[in-house]
Order: sequence, then structure tokens, then C-alpha cells
Amino acid sequence: RFIAFEGGEGVGKSTQARLLADALRERGLRVAVTREPGGTSGAEAIRKLLLAPPGEGWGPRAEALLFAAARSDHVSRLIRPALDGGEWVVCDRFLDSSRAYQGVALDLGDEAIMDLHRIGSEELLPDLVLVLQASPEQVARRLNARDGNASDAIGGRDATYHAKVDAAFAGFAQSDPGRYALIDGTGTIEQVHARVMHAVTPLLQR
Ligand code: C5P
Repeated sequence: RFIAFEGGEGVGKSTQARLLADALRERGLRVAVTREPGGTSGAEAIRKLLLAPPGEGWGPRAEALLFAAARSDHVSRLIRPALDGGEWVVCDRFLDSSRAYQGVALDLGDEAIMDLHRIGSEELLPDLVLVLQASPEQVARRLNARDGNASDAIGGRDATYHAKVDAAFAGFAQSDPGRYALIDGTGTIEQVHARVMHAVTPLLQR
């Protein structure tokens, strides 16, 4: 089974991915927990290129291609082999981040992103996408508290850009409620984890 966490920065995706992986392991399941962009040495190298761009930065198309290349390496070397070996995979960001950031906010369109996904990753889709949502105030607090945040974000993007991304994630979830769950990311880490477990329960019963 393949589960992805999606949402903007500072909504708690990596914390919740870790907690979900722990909970699944407690049930005796084998779980690989990973992240994008990254997860393999090649994809982590591309992550560095994305987060520390050259002087001119990346144009939208080059950026989308780099994310797709990182994903291709990650899928073929880590995610696919883990799934084929019977492991569960919990991933912090996946395809829907490319659809939201590059497809919607940078205006490349969904078709282009899906074409890259077909070429790069054989259109692999998660069984379940958990979209975490939090208020802009809560996100600002978390990002301020996070160490070294400045080096872990693609810089120079404004609130309008992030609002587009949030709306895009919500739209994906609404268009396919069978494969997506919108998760309220407000409250304590434990409260959010309980909501995550509730959303994952149907997969555990299948
Ligand atoms: O989730 P994480 O903090 O690791 O994301 C790193 C940076 O990459 C963030 O600034 C995020 O907004 C950005 N990103 C992006 N397009 C993607 C995935 C992540 O701009 N497809």
C-alpha cells in the first residue's frame, strides 16, 4: 500500500508521516517512510539543486522536469521495489505537489505534469492521499519555530502563490474523494494523528 501526505509548507506532513509509519509498524507491517523531492541519493542531489537554484533560478518548465526526474529515480529505486516486496510506503509529498505547485501555481497545466509522470514514473499513483490543511497563522507559527527553514524552501514566493497551492490540493481531494482524504491539521500532533489513523483504517481492513 502506498500513502502520500500532501499540503503546503508547515502543515505537519513530515511529523504525521513519521507517526503513521510508527503506528503501522506497531501493527506488524513493514513500512518505508520517505520524502520528495528526495528519498534516494540521486533525488536528494536534485533536491539540493531545486532548493539552492543557480543565479537565474529555474524557469517553470525546468523546475517541473527536475521534480519529475527526482520522482522517477525515487519511484524506480525505492518506492516500486518496496511495494513489490510487500512493504507499505509512506511518502511526504508526491505527484500532487507537482500538480499543485508547477501545474496550477506556475501555470504549466495538469496535462503537462501528468505527461511527465507517465514518462518518468509509469503513472504510479498512491492508494491514498492525505491532504493536511492548517490556517495560514498556524503555518506561520510552525515555520518560524522550525530550525533552518530558510534553506528548506524554494524562496521568493508570495502568499498568493501559496493560496493557489492550497486551493489546488483541496480541489484534487474534492474531485476524487475515494482516493483522497482532507485532514484538519489544526490542534495537537496527537489530534491530527488520530484523524490520519481514521482516514487510513479502510486500507487496513482491505
Ligand atoms: O515539503 P518540503 O518543505 O520538503 O518542500 C521543499 C520545498 O519545495 C518547499 O518550498 C515546497 O513548497 C517546494 N516544492 C515545490 N514543488 C513541489 C514540491 C515542493 O515548489 N512539487
